[in-house]
This record gives sequence, structure tokens and C-alpha cells, in this order.
Amino acid sequence: MNAAPADQIRLLDLQALDVRLTQLAHRRENLPEHAEIRALEADLTQQRDLLVAAQTEESDTARDQTKAEQDVDQVRQRAARDQQRLDSGLVTNPKDLASLQSELASLARRQDDLETIVLEIMERHEAAQARAKELAARLDELQATATEATQRRDAATQDIDAEVAAVRKERSEVAAEVPADLLKLYDKLREQQGGIGAARLYQRRCEGCRLELNITELNEVRAAAPDTVVRCENCRRILVRTPESGL
Ligand SMILES: [Zn+2]
Repeated sequence: MNAAPADQIRLLDLQALDVRLTQLAHRRENLPEHAEIRALEADLTQQRDLLVAAQTEESDTARDQTKAEQDVDQVRQRAARDQQRLDSGLVTNPKDLASLQSELASLARRQDDLETIVLEIMERHEAAQARAKELAARLDELQATATEATQRRDAATQDIDAEVAAVRKERSEVAAEVPADLLKLYDKLREQQGGIGAARLYQRRCEGCRLELNITELNEVRAAAPDTVVRCENCRRILVRTPESGL
């Protein structure tokens, strides 16, 4: 393939822009914010689950407390009724009196037990309430951190995208100056060779594969006409000659 030396050198500009695009894509993909946000999201999921558990415990203990308080009330009301009957003086039969007094004693014990249960439930309820409050605050904090990280990621992505757009525009301008067949070969090689299709021959070294040309290869390059498109024997990339090629 033949191409004017100036067009071959233009390929190096194109290559530099393509390398820039690869770097920008890599940077966009590997923004530290991505990992940060992933970790925060995992944390958020975990904290949300803990909060739901604490809130469930909070409402369960509230319901249990109401129920236990109703039980206490029932016992209290029954004891009050019994006391009233006892105080009324209407129960005179000793057996009935003894039975009433025994029931009152048993109701008092029952009330005591139930009140202990109410206290225990209240303690559990207050603990759950405090825990839910603490978790909700922690969740708010985490959410704010995640929002801030997301904003940072979006801003960084926007900056990169703007730069990508500018480099792409420049690339299409440079590509328009390169002859179609040379551009096609360059693009094909670039795809095959990890993003580098054209390399400068610099001080006898291919800057694509970094290998120094041996004497036979050098002589071949020296013998090639200036408009011959030379390829690296080792990596097959387009080898672009410049005044610093060491020929
Ligand atoms: Zn090479």
C-alpha cells in the first residue's frame, strides 16, 4: 500500500486521539465513585433491613403492650367488683366470704404478674423505638453520603463525556484527511492490535511493540520508497517513519 508521507504522519495524530479516547473510556469505567456507590448501596440495603426489623419489633411490642395493659385492666376491674361486694356487707356466708377473699388474693397476685409483664414489654418497646430511631438517622446519613457520591460520579462522567465529544470531533476531522484505504487498514489493525494500529519508528524501535528492528529489517525500511506504507515485521502495525527514526 502507498500513501504520502504526510498522510502517514497524520495517522500518528489519529492514533494519539484514539489512545486518548481509550483512556477516557477506561477512566469513565473505573471512576472511584463506582466502587464507592456500590459499597454504599450494599450498606443501605443492610441498614434498611435492620430498620424494618426494628420497626416491626416496635409495632409488635406496642400491640403486646396494649394487650397486656388490657389484661391488667380486666383483673383490676374484677378485683374492684369483688372488693365492692365484700365492702357492701351483703356477703355474709363465711364460705362465700372466704372464697371472695381468696379470689381477691389470687387476683392481686395475677395483677402483679401482669404488671411485671407490662413493664418488660415496655422496656422492649422502648429499646426497639430507640434502635429504630438510631437506624433511621444512620440511614439518612448513608443516603446523604450516597447522594453526594452519585452527584460526584455524575459530574465526573459529564466532564469525561464532554472531553470524549471534543476528541471524537477532532478525530473525525483528522480521519477525513487520511486516505480511505490507509484509514481502513489502520482501523482494522487497531482493532486487532489492542487499540494501536500505527506506531512511530523511533530510534530504530517500533513504538507499537517496543522491539528494535534488526539490521535486515532496517535495511528494508531504508530501501522502501517514502510513500510505501511500511509494516512492523514483529507486530504487523503500520510503521511510520519520521526524522527521528534513526534510519
Ligand atoms: Zn512492532
